[in-house]
Amino acid sequence: MGRFDGRVAVVTGAARGIGFGIAQRFAHEGARVAVIDLDESAAKKAAAALPGADKPKTSHLGIGCDVSDTASVEPAIERVVSELGGVHILVNNAGITRDNLLFKMTDEDWDLVIGVHLRGAFLMTRAAQKHFVAQKYGKILNLSSVSALGNRGQANYSAAKMGIQGLTRTLGIELGPFGINANAVAPGFIATDMTDDTARRLGIPVEDFRKMNAESNPVRRVGTPADIAAAATFLCSDEASYITGQTLYVDGGARLD
Ligand code: NAP
Repeated sequence: MGRFDGRVAVVTGAARGIGFGIAQRFAHEGARVAVIDLDESAAKKAAAALPGADKPKTSHLGIGCDVSDTASVEPAIERVVSELGGVHILVNNAGITRDNLLFKMTDEDWDLVIGVHLRGAFLMTRAAQKHFVAQKYGKILNLSSVSALGNRGQANYSAAKMGIQGLTRTLGIELGPFGINANAVAPGFIATDMTDDTARRLGIPVEDFRKMNAESNPVRRVGTPADIAAAATFLCSDEASYITGQTLYVDGGARLD
């Protein structure tokens, strides 16, 4: 018996990286998962690779959807409900970076990052909450970041990730009376395409960049998508039903110094 048997979890940006790690863990623990990503074929491929994908009762769904676009989000949630039989958990994970120092940051860099992280989490949550409220049950998990606390070259991303924490607290207040919990995880350095791209942009070999970040971390390693998935699934489980509006830093203690 899995913690998420009979549950349907929507995970955005789940074709790869942290989102895929979270989707794997939910599927491993019995959930049917809707993998949402920009590219529908990548989303379908990821859904087909999840545990249980070969069994009709636990098969998953891959949907192409831009989380920053209302016209794309509303039908995506309705498809999840009609094809998987409901929706119980929403993980707002889709994300991008467009790093630059403030004086070089363009309007487009700002709008794109705020659009995907913040508007995306708002639109997905608004679309899912009507089902959560009707059934008096729902779990929302938002991806913040240690960068919420400020990070050179990431004015757009930091603002979005701190905005996510404010959104999470407000969702906790507004939706708590309806049996809905909303929390956030704030990862530190996690080895994914996103951090590999940062290494390439800085002109540092990927392995050296990971080593550098591991050496400066109190626990002397970088994080993995599985580290985030462990926290995410706990916060979306019924064991965490008295926890809401919180942001849990999963960063190996990176912000302690
Ligand atoms: P990733 O490997 O770059 O994966 C992000 C996924 O989101 C990609 O599959 C991407 O699709 C998808 N995506 C981008 N824009 C989208 C949109 N508008 N609609 C739907 N999907 C979209 O990133 P990650 O490292 O796994 O990060 C996942 C989340 O964790 C992000 O919110 C990120 O900010 C946060 N985070 C990451 C780290 C880290 O160290 N990696 C640390 C703190 C927080 P495409 O492939 O088509 O672009």
